[in-house]
Amino acid sequence: MTELALVDHIIQGRTPDTPDNQCDVFNPATGEITAQLALGGAREVDMAVKAAQAAFPAWAATPPHIRARVLFRFRDLVEREFDRLAAVITAEHGKVLSDAKGELTRGLEVIEFACGIPQLLKGEFSEHVGRGVDAVSIRQPLGVVAGITPFNFPAMVPMWMFPVALACGNTFILKPSERDPSITNEIAALLEQAGLPEGVFQIVHGGKPAVDALLEHPGVEAISFVGSTPIAEYVHQKGTAAGKRVQALGGAKNHMIVMPDADLDKAVDALMGAAYGAAGERCMAISVAVPVGQATADALIERLAPKVRGLKIGPGTDAEAEMGPLVTRQHADKVVGYIDAGEAEGAELVVDGRDFKIQGYENGFFVGGTLFDRVTPDMKIYREEIFGPVLSVVRTESFDEALGLVNAHEYGNGTAVFTRDGDTAQAFLNRVQAGMVGVNVPIPVPMAFHSFGGWKRSLFGDHHMHGPEGVRFFTRLKAGTIRWPEGIRAGADFIMPTLS
Ligand code: NAD
Repeated sequence: MTELALVDHIIQGRTPDTPDNQCDVFNPATGEITAQLALGGAREVDMAVKAAQAAFPAWAATPPHIRARVLFRFRDLVEREFDRLAAVITAEHGKVLSDAKGELTRGLEVIEFACGIPQLLKGEFSEHVGRGVDAVSIRQPLGVVAGITPFNFPAMVPMWMFPVALACGNTFILKPSERDPSITNEIAALLEQAGLPEGVFQIVHGGKPAVDALLEHPGVEAISFVGSTPIAEYVHQKGTAAGKRVQALGGAKNHMIVMPDADLDKAVDALMGAAYGAAGERCMAISVAVPVGQATADALIERLAPKVRGLKIGPGTDAEAEMGPLVTRQHADKVVGYIDAGEAEGAELVVDGRDFKIQGYENGFFVGGTLFDRVTPDMKIYREEIFGPVLSVVRTESFDEALGLVNAHEYGNGTAVFTRDGDTAQAFLNRVQAGMVGVNVPIPVPMAFHSFGGWKRSLFGDHHMHGPEGVRFFTRLKAGTIRWPEGIRAGADFIMPTLS
C-alpha cells in the first residue's frame, strides 16, 4: 500500500506533518484498498495559499509565450507517459483503459488550447480616441485561484481548469476528488518536470474541510468547481459571499430525443455508448431516451434490450470490456437503490443489472447495464441524477412533447436529437434549454477551443469552462486611456472628462 502525499508542493516535494485524517482509496474492480490518502484542511490550504501568493508576481510577470513553453513541454510529457497515466486512472476510477485514454486525449486538447495563450491574451486597442489619446483593453491574471474537482474525470476535469489558469498567469491550487487522487500527483510531477516554477501549481488533498478552507481563505481570488449540484450550489453561494469569482458546474440528466425518421441502428449504437460508457459516470451521459411515437419506442426497446444484456462488463484493464465497475461500494449500492425505486414506482424493468457478478471479481463494485421502459416524469429515477449504467425510456407522441420534457427538467447540461430532418434539428438547437446540444451526436462535449458548460441547475455562475470563457474567467479586464504628451492641454478641467 502506498502512502499518498498530503500537500504536494511540487517543487519542494515535501509532505507536511502527519495528518489528522485519512481515507481509503480502492481498486473498484477488486474492492481492495490500494492506498491511504492523507486529508488536508485549513492548515494545509493556508500553507498552499501562502506559497501560491509568493510565486504569483514572478509567474504573472513571465511573458505569455514563455509560460506557454512550459505548457508545451508538459503536453509532450503527458503524451510520452500516456499509457502509464491511463493505467493510474483505471486503477482508482475503474473505467476501461480505452476510456481513460479518451479522457486524457480531451485533457491534452485543453493543454494545446492553452499553449496558444499569447494569441488568446491579445487585448484591444483603439487609436486616436481623442487628440493625442489612445485606448487599450487588457486582460490580467487574478492571482491565486483554486480548482475543486469530481471523481469521474480525475485527469480531464482538472485539465479543463489549470492549463488555462496557469497560461493566463495565475497560480493554482487543486483540490481533487478523494476517491481517485493519484493521477493528480502524477500530473503535478510532470508539471515540475516541464519546468513550472515552485508554488505555481499545488495540490491539497482532502474533503469538505479543505473545500471550506479554500472558500473562506481571503487569499483565494476565484474558485472553479465541478461536481454534484448540491455541492456546486453550496460552493457558489459560499464562494461569492466571500467575494470570490466562482464558476460551479453541477449534475445532469441528459435526454436524447429519437425522432421517427432517425437511423435507428445508429441511434441505438449512440445510446449504448452514451448511457453505459464509463458505467454512466459521466456528466454528459445520456440517462433518458425519448422516442417520439409508439412505433419508434417499440423498435428502440426491441433493439436496445439485447445489446444491454450483451454488454461486456469487466475490470477496466480487460481489453475486451466495454464497461467497468462503479467507483465505490457506496455508490454502487446507491445505484442499486435507484433501480429498486424505479421498479417500486412502476417503471417497466426491461434489463435488470442488480445481481451482476463476474468470476474472480466478486468483491468489485459492479452493477450491470439496466434498462427501464415507460418511465414517467414524476418518478424519482427520472427526476434525479443516478450516475450509473441505468437508461430510462420516456415515451412521447410528438417532437413538441419531447422538447417540452427536456425543457421542464431542472438540469440543462447536455442533450441530443437524432433525426434526418433539417427543420427538426434546427428547431431543437434553437429552442432547447441546455448548454450543450448534439444533432446526431449523443455526447456533445465541446472541443477545447469552444467552452463547456450547462444551463439551469447544471451550472452556477456566469462562465463556462475552457475555450474563450475559460480565458475570461481566469483574467480580469483593465481599460487604459493614454494621453501622449502632444495631447496634454494646459489648465484644469472640472467637467466630466470627454475626449472631444
Ligand atoms: P461531489 O459533488 O461529491 O464532489 C465534487 C468535489 O466536491 C470533490 O472534490 C469533493 O471532495 C467535494 N465535496 C464533496 N462533498 C462536499 C461537501 N459536503 N462540501 C464541500 N465539498 C464537498 O461529486 P462527485 O461524486 O465527485 O462527482 C460526480 C458529480 O459531478 C455528478 O453529479 C456529475 O454530474 C458531476 N459532474 C459534472 C460535470 C459538469 O461538467 N457539469 C462534470 C463532471 C462531473
